[in-house]
Amino acid sequence: MNYRSLQGGEAVSFETAVRRGLAPDNGLYFPTDIPQLPASFFEKITNLSKEEIGFEVIRPFLAPEIDDSSLLQIVTETLCFDFPLVPLDENTAVLELFHGPTLAFKDVGARFMSRCLAYFNKKQTSVHNTVLVATSGDTGGAVADGFLDVSGIEVAILYPEGKVSDIQERQLTTLGRNVKAFAVAGSFDDCQAMVKRAFLDSDFENLGLTSANSINVARWLPQMMYYFLAYAAVKNKNQNLAICVPSGNFGNICAGLIAKKMGLPIAHFIAATNVNDTVPRYMQTKELDPKPTIPTISNAMDVSIPSNFVRVLELFPGDTLAQLFSAVAFTDAETKVAMRDLYDTFGYVADPHGAVGYLGLRAFQKTHPDYYGIFLETAHPIKFPDVVEETLELKLNYPSSVQKLLDLEKKFERISTYADLKAKLLH
Ligand SMILES: *Cc1c(COP(=O)(O)O)cnc(C)c1O
Repeated sequence: MNYRSLQGGEAVSFETAVRRGLAPDNGLYFPTDIPQLPASFFEKITNLSKEEIGFEVIRPFLAPEIDDSSLLQIVTETLCFDFPLVPLDENTAVLELFHGPTLAFKDVGARFMSRCLAYFNKKQTSVHNTVLVATSGDTGGAVADGFLDVSGIEVAILYPEGKVSDIQERQLTTLGRNVKAFAVAGSFDDCQAMVKRAFLDSDFENLGLTSANSINVARWLPQMMYYFLAYAAVKNKNQNLAICVPSGNFGNICAGLIAKKMGLPIAHFIAATNVNDTVPRYMQTKELDPKPTIPTISNAMDVSIPSNFVRVLELFPGDTLAQLFSAVAFTDAETKVAMRDLYDTFGYVADPHGAVGYLGLRAFQKTHPDYYGIFLETAHPIKFPDVVEETLELKLNYPSSVQKLLDLEKKFERISTYADLKAKLLH
């Protein structure tokens, strides 16, 4: 499979797309072709293991550059935790994506991408990369964990100081070794702008900069795997299915939409956002009109310029999108009511992001009561202990992976301008 820039540049190999992150013309890479899965695959999907499903759906995007046995190994290590589909009532289930090492769905993309780069670096030991990544909260930890000690890779993580939770900050500042953290005086969009600028800056040429944000195809594409796992776990496959994805940069939902394009029988996708509602407004007006980013309790979705939305529009251009996709925004007050509702009605403890997903699904089911709905729980509630404990009036237990972070020292450097970042990285 080759990858072309959405700005129109020439197509490149998967390895080149992964090493570059963003195309030289500043466009996002996109597969030149969307493979179609045969009906027989969906007929047998219930009997396949998660590794078999993951391998089969991702293989056309990487063959022949990564050989089958190496790819199976990469998929197996990526999917080394559970993806339970937990039923709440007869028409609703939650797909839990937080059972990985850093307790958010971003572990999937980060683990997959780091292993792909390690595979390519083994073949070309002279090549080095610096992974530069902006995080709104969860990417940083997942990337730090996924890339720790991968040879030939240096990692630099930019996060908005004071706008990520304590545990999120610990996950990305305490590992050290080849992982450096930079606390930026600004918002996630400011961090993302610095990363994008660095990619276009010829002074960075020798560092082999790449991105581990979902703009990188190796971070974005593997997320499709768990949409197939969810479908495999659904009992009544004859019902209309809808999936609601709490969305920020729109990488996760875009992975679901590519799965649909490959043949996954999900009838409708709902993007649920917080008040950073650029896409819900776009669906009304057909105009992208980003406003300044507003901090919310679902901080990993505090994004007003969602990078991956151009990929969504590429997959389903013009009026085709509105037939299978809708977008809806919710306030923090509504999110807290949903957290309470989930807890009081089902005894389910959701984090604020999952609660936004639940709201989006319920809004859709109001007008489409015949749909079986799944919403994604994208992070473990313990990553947001203050708001969860206060809203639900309970005390959360720390899993051991979090407990041990509490004793480690946070190590980071403060920066406020692009020039600061340059000085630190080029020292
Ligand atoms: C990153 C993140 C999101 C948003 O995902 P996108 O792919 O950026 O849309 C939602 N929830 C959590 C917990 C996240 O970490």
